Parts: sequence; C-alpha cells; structure tokens
Amino acid sequence: MLIRPISFAYNPLRKCDCKWKSLRLILNGSTGGLKMEIGGSFYERKYYSTCYMCACRCGIEVYVRNGKVTYIKGNDDHPLNKGVLCAKGSSGIMKEYSPARLRKPLLRVGPRGSGQFKEIEWDEALEIAAKWIKEAAQKNPSKVAFFTGRDQMQAINGWFAGQIGTLNWAAHGGFCSVNVAAAGLMSVGYSFWEFGDPDFEHTKYFMMIGVAEDHASNPFKLGIQELKRRGGKFVFVNPVRWSYGAIADEWVPIKPGTDGAFILGLAHVLFKYNLIDWEFLKEFTNAPWLVIQAPGTPKDGLFYRNEEGKPMVFDKKSNSFKPADRIVPEDLDPAFIGEFETPEGYKVRPAFDIFAERIVKDYTPEKVEKITGIPAETIERIAKELGVTALYNPIELPIEWTDVWGRKHKKMVGRPVSFHIMRGIASHTNGYQTARAVFVLMMLLGCIDRPGGHLAKPPYPKHIEDLPKPKKIKSLDELEFGKPYGPHLGIPQSPDDLLVDEKGNPLRIDRAYSWEFPIAAHGCIQNVIPAAYQKDPYDIEVLMIYMANMAWNSSQNIPYILEALTAKDASGNYIIPKIITIDAFYSEMVAYSDLVLPDATYLEQWFALSLLDRPPSVASGPVDAIRQPIVEPQDLKGEKLDVLPWGEVMVRLGTKLGLPGFLNEDGTPKYKDWKDFLINWQPQPGVGALAGWRGKNGDKHFVGEPNPNQLEMYAKNKGFFYYPLPEHMRYYRHVNKDYLEWAKSVKFVKRTDPIIMNFYVETLQKFRLAGQGLWEGENQPPNDPAIRERLVRYFDPLPFWYPPFEEEVSGKDYPLYAFTKRPQWMYHSWDSQNAWLRQISTRNYLYMNPKTAKKLGIKHLDWVWVESRIGRVKCQVFLTECTEPNSVWTWNAIGKMIGAWGLKPEAEEGHQGFLLNHVIPHSIKMNGKEFYYGDPITGHLAWFDTKVRVYKAEDQTPETYPEFKVEPLPYIKERWVDVLRYKP
Ligand code: SF4
Repeated sequence: MLIRPISFAYNPLRKCDCKWKSLRLILNGSTGGLKMEIGGSFYERKYYSTCYMCACRCGIEVYVRNGKVTYIKGNDDHPLNKGVLCAKGSSGIMKEYSPARLRKPLLRVGPRGSGQFKEIEWDEALEIAAKWIKEAAQKNPSKVAFFTGRDQMQAINGWFAGQIGTLNWAAHGGFCSVNVAAAGLMSVGYSFWEFGDPDFEHTKYFMMIGVAEDHASNPFKLGIQELKRRGGKFVFVNPVRWSYGAIADEWVPIKPGTDGAFILGLAHVLFKYNLIDWEFLKEFTNAPWLVIQAPGTPKDGLFYRNEEGKPMVFDKKSNSFKPADRIVPEDLDPAFIGEFETPEGYKVRPAFDIFAERIVKDYTPEKVEKITGIPAETIERIAKELGVTALYNPIELPIEWTDVWGRKHKKMVGRPVSFHIMRGIASHTNGYQTARAVFVLMMLLGCIDRPGGHLAKPPYPKHIEDLPKPKKIKSLDELEFGKPYGPHLGIPQSPDDLLVDEKGNPLRIDRAYSWEFPIAAHGCIQNVIPAAYQKDPYDIEVLMIYMANMAWNSSQNIPYILEALTAKDASGNYIIPKIITIDAFYSEMVAYSDLVLPDATYLEQWFALSLLDRPPSVASGPVDAIRQPIVEPQDLKGEKLDVLPWGEVMVRLGTKLGLPGFLNEDGTPKYKDWKDFLINWQPQPGVGALAGWRGKNGDKHFVGEPNPNQLEMYAKNKGFFYYPLPEHMRYYRHVNKDYLEWAKSVKFVKRTDPIIMNFYVETLQKFRLAGQGLWEGENQPPNDPAIRERLVRYFDPLPFWYPPFEEEVSGKDYPLYAFTKRPQWMYHSWDSQNAWLRQISTRNYLYMNPKTAKKLGIKHLDWVWVESRIGRVKCQVFLTECTEPNSVWTWNAIGKMIGAWGLKPEAEEGHQGFLLNHVIPHSIKMNGKEFYYGDPITGHLAWFDTKVRVYKAEDQTPETYPEFKVEPLPYIKERWVDVLRYKP
C-alpha cells in the first residue's frame, strides 16, 4: 500500500534517478506504526547489522552504493526494535565520516595532553604494545590494567586480560548501573535492561524511576506506545520532567537520592492496606524464612537452618518448624509475622516480620514526604493504585504450564504492574539499597516474571548462589604472566570471596572486592586513574583503555584527573608510566595517551553481540546478533584509513605475546584473524561467542562445535538469531519446570531446582557480621573503624534508605543537588562530532526551576557559577518548570576540551558547553578515612550525589570556565570545513 512519499533532513532519494519512487510507507502489523520499504537505485547492496550509536543493540539495515553508506533504517524483523530507529541510529552515516576519526596508530612525541604524536605503522605499534605489556606483566601481571568502556565484547575482553594474567580488568559498569545489576542479580537472579523488561504487552501500570532514558531506548518507545494505546498508566518519578516524562500520565518530582525512601513508603502503604501478594512471597521468595535474633553472636541475622543446612520456616498449620524447601501451598502455611523460639533456644523471626517493623515505623508517608518532597497523599494514592492494579486486576493467560514441584497449572496469572530503573537511582551512595527496595517492592506486588510484570530476558534468570565469583587469590604473587586468571567479576557470597591479602588490603588496583567495595560486581573503572596516580594500593606500569573517555566525561574532578595523567616523579617520568588507548576518534583520552591503536567503527567490522555478554535478548526468548564489515574505513574525502577493529588487534597482540589462549599446543597461532576468533573461540566446550547455527553444518543452536560459516548464516538471517520460547516457558521461569530443564540443556543454568528470590540477602549480613568482628570465616576486615562502620551500617540484608553521603559532608553549605542526564540525541561523548546530531545541540545549559532562580536572583540565560566543595564551573542558566526546585542539572558530555573530537577550536562545545564533572568529587572523607566516591557496597560511582551552590557570575562574558585545550592532530585540521555535508 503506497501511502505517500516523505522527506527527510537528509534524503538519499534526491541523489538517485528514481526520485520519490523508491520509498514506501506501510502499516507495520507488529508495531502498529509505519514501516518503510526501500527500493530503487540509490543503493547497490543492503546489509543487516546491529546499531552502535548507543548501547541498545537495535537491528539495522544498511544501504550502500559506491562503497558508501547511503541510508540506515531499522530492521523490521528484529525482535528488539521491530524496525524502530532513533535519531542517533539514523545518523550513523555521519559518525562514519566524522572529522575526528583516527587514521593510523599514534605514538606520543610531545608531553601528554599536548596532542603531539607521530603516526606509526601497525607492526611497530603492536611491537611497542607487546613490549610494554610483556615487560610489565613479567614483573607481575597486576602491573597491567585493562579497563574498557561501553564496549559490547566484555566477555572476550575480560578473557583477554585473563590471558595476560592480570586481575585488573573491568568494563564501565562501575560508573553506570552496577547498583541496579548487583541488587537485581542478588535479589531475583536477573535485573533491568539487558536482563529484563516490563511486559508491555500486558502491563497496566508502568512506573519509571530515575534517569533511565538511555537504556533500552527503542524498545521502550514501542512499549510505552503499546501501554498507552491500551489505556494503561505511565508514572514518571524523576527530579526532571523530560524525554519519556513528556508523555507520562503523571510526573512525580522527587529530590535526588531519596528514591529509596519513596519506594519504602509505597511498601508501607501496601502493608497497611494488605495489598500484598502473600502467595507469591510464600512460594517464590525467602520472605518467610526465619532469621536468628542473637545480637553479638556469629549467628545473628543468619537464617535458622536444620541439620542438613536447610533454611526453616514456622508452619502455622502444624505449629512447628519446617524446612523451607517444602514451601508449596498444600504443604505449609508459613508465618510471616511473629517471633518464635527454636528447640535450640534461638529467638527467630521471619525475614518479612523484620521488614514490616521497619516500614511501619520508619516509612510512613508523612516521614517520606519530609525526605522526598513528595506529598504524603500522593505516596498513599500511588501505592494504592499499584496494589489494586496488581491484586485486583490480575492478568490471566490460558497457558498450561508445570512448576518444578510437578504441579500442572491451567493458566498463567500475572500482576500487571511494572517498573524500570537504571542510572538515576543507581548513581548515589545509597543506590544499591534503593535498587534493592525496588526489587522487594516488586516481590510484594508479585510482579516478577509473571504476565504484565517485569520479565527476565534469557539467559536470565539464574540461580543466585551459582552466579560467578571473582577468582580468589590471596597474594599478587600467585599471578604469573600468561597464566590465565578469571573470572574477574561476579558476586561474592561472603567475605571469604573477597580479593584481599592477609592483612585485608585490596588486591585489585580499583579496590573492587576489597573491604571498601565488597560487592563491586562490575569493578570500579572510575578509581583506576586516581589509584594509579597515588600508587595506592600499588603502582601499575601499563594502563590500557578501550572505548572509555576517562580523561573527560567518564571521570569526575577532571582537573585532578588531568593532573594524575600528567604528573611526573622526581626523575621526570610519568607516574602512570604507559597509557595505551584504543578508540576510533580523537577523544580527550586519546590526547592524554602514549600509544593509540585506532579502532574501526561498527560498520567496518565483524562483531558478536553475545549471549555471554549483554545480548539483545527479549523476554520471549534469547537473541544474539552480529555486525559485519559493510564499508571500508575511510574519511569524508574518501581517503582510506589504516585502522583495525580492536578484536583484530587483540588477536594479533595475544598471538605476538604468546598468550596461551591464542596458541595451539604446538605453539602455532590458533586464530587466523578476528573473524576466525569469533567463529572458533570457545570459553567452554561447545559454547562460543554466538549461539545460533553452531555445529559443523550449522544445524545446532546454543551448544555445538564451531561452524565455519556461522557468521554468513547470521548475515543471511538478517543479522540475528532469535529463539522464541514456547508460550508455556515465557513466564514463571524461576519455578517453570520446562523452562529450567531447557535452560539447563543450553547451559544457561546449572540445575533445575527453583530459583528462590532473596527478599532477605543473607550475604550482606555476613559482611555486617565481619564489621562487628563476628564473622567466623577466613577473611577479616582491617581494624579500621571507618571500614568496619560501613560494613555494620550499610550491609543490611533488608533494604533501607539513608541520606547520600554528600548530604552529611557538604549538604549544609551546598543546598542544591546537581546531576547530569544523557540527551536523547547523543550517546555521551560519542556524538558531539556527528554533524547531523550537532544540528540539535552544540552546547548545554544548567537547567533550573524558576522559583529557585528567583530566590537566588538569577534570570533566564544568566551566566552563573556552580560550586561544589571541590571547585566551580561557569555556565549559562536555562529556566524550566520541568525541574524540581531543589535540583539543577545539565546534559552529560556536550561540553568538550577545546581541540578534541575533531571540532574546530571555536566550536561552542568548548566555550559555551560545560562539563559538570569538574565539580563532581572523586573521593569523600568519612570517619577520618578518604574513600572513593561510591556506594559502600558495590563502589558504584555516586555521580548524582553532588551538592552545589549556584550564584550569578559577575563577569557575564559568554564563556565557560575552566577551559582545557588540546592540540588537534594535523590531519584533523585539514578536514575542517565550514559546512560538513555528507555526499554519497
Ligand atoms: S536506540 Fe541506540 S541502538 Fe537503537 S537505533 Fe537508537 S542509537 Fe541505535
């Protein structure tokens, strides 16, 4: 059905003979939107791939003519984005031809940060990299630290670091959303975004809490559309009404860092009105398990267990203690409230009882109003809406299924309320407990992996006790160059899983899994540069950074970070001796590096979006996908770029270094190149980077020998592999017999017994006992009251709210909360170089509520100082009612270092754009000890804890301060033009 031709800001059809005849809009059955069909002569070839203009992993179709991309559109058949493409995805063409693209390896010849480099050949670059890594790792592998940013090959990068033998590897989760991931995995065996999504098809009430827009972007656009079409309610809890908030049915403005109190206030009201799914708590969670009440003893706060080690409940039917593994309705009626005495003389209470006492006492709506700024009646109303929707409007799907206890069910019943949280609530020093509160709230409402609720995405959920743990060593002396180390990351189950030496000192450079950040499930990338500068806990020799702009928008306290990167010792040597950066663009981090290995873009290489990593799965089944080489690396003028995909460099480097995983037994290279690696790499027998079309002939899925034609088979299947689960395996997966048996057969889980959800996280209590000196295990915390107090205070097995640390340290003098958000049209620092996206914004403002401005004597567009306890930054104010009065905020990463990212020196990004990170602290003093600026449980960077004061600048010159400059590369200067226009 031809509807009508449409025009675009960039319309490739204008460049072809078949003007207006090659584009058709068709009603798309699956999304209800318009689907585009493209034909005609403006392209010679079409490729299927996966977008990488942000981390959402949407399927794309890429059209190519004369070796250049002429158009990118969404892949209509891709289960994740169903044809939807955002502004960033469409602008991938201009990323390809960014003036900031690197063209050859670089070796620094001037001082760090000067931008003085010489171009070298790849052979020399690899020789230098191998020499630096080998010399350092032969002293001790920990001298090499490899930290990666928003890469999508973390499983492979971690494995590579492990082959060197270093324990110092992590990706970017420490400054992104590890609080949510860790809290989710430890509570329900899965989490949000890549790990779980709302069931938009059935949900009736959807609540988005925090600054979450940049995660799961296109699927959420589709989902919210679906929800609103069916008349569902969308509630947006956020200090700022922006992006998705614009179409929310209700905006609930909240003071930053107080979300945990709000959630627990909702729990209070649910309990008050008995709007709780007791059956769910009984069957699927440990809420009724009995907790020993014996303060001052090593048993305090642990589950009461029988002789076989099984946790116990108190059965009201038989008036006796029974093992909790028999919790099925016909067997037991476990008590949720009360105190009991065991035959051994212990006082015990159900975990729920302890929680109930807390929420009843501490989280009345009136108390929560004082903390959050949300009126008590609003809290009460929203809680009732949630509870009534969940409990009295259940979804019933006529799908028969069998649970792990062998019971057959005629239907699937669901609670149609769902949530989404990510960085907004995570990036606080109370982020882990806040995220925990959300998972507990979902348990109360019974909306976990049930129709209408929040669904897991395979390969999740997983048994919480089976989650990986970091490989334990007791001394760095146990590491050897070329002796594989790993896994690097995971979830410790007790203090004995920490990576500390005999004295309790950290073994990792970033202090992950130390007593300071015991459950640093994603590592702490943000601590690496300060730690290496301070040589605390030790010095390193080679810092490798892949796709992370650690010299600018991915660090805090930038003046300090730049000092760390350029500081020299008494002999005139850099304190961080060697910095190797892998990136495709001339970022600030590249400018502060010694050796630069230029990467290819996402349209120029083979790549696997793997189930071993963060796959593009959907709740209805696992999905993995590829990228493929579509165009040759070239700049806008068509000049060929001598760049290589990092994967190719990794294979060459690993082979050159003689790392065991890259060599056959006879010492010959195991992999021909990166493509060969993607096909043949198997971290465990039969399991590789991609799950589809395994086996020699491509007739096996998930487990099977490598298939030499696997990547081509993906390309033929529109770039992805989707295994839609049969309907009866799509819900209740924690206890779904058929799902768990299938998941075991494809190695997603190790066993088929139920995945019990942790209402109460006993692991945290073990750390608390350690803080009290009562842990009977091997690892004991140092005798430092500052560390011990953190363990005692914050490692609560039940969620609670406490003020962000900054509130205590500087809250009185700095009354406003300051934080950043990612603009919908740019993915952090990646897109200020993109000519099409720069048309939307080239600079940022400080957004402020007009009432706040009036009190401060500030007018719209005044230049102001934003000052925190570590410094100040000058910027321009933009007044908007869309910001709650206690907050100020801005877009992240629009402000740039002058001369970076291929921008001209006069570009607004360097002069009117500003970086809030200059005033975000990188550390905080608590009880006399300086800690990195993170959540005490996971180390998650507390980006959004910053408190500031704002005052009008005397000098209204429209120029930000501080400004930093770097010299652009000579060839980048040659690319500067007045109008950057793509000509296919
Ligand atoms: S949401 Fe992200 S991955 Fe999807 S099209 Fe947009 S930029 Fe690409």
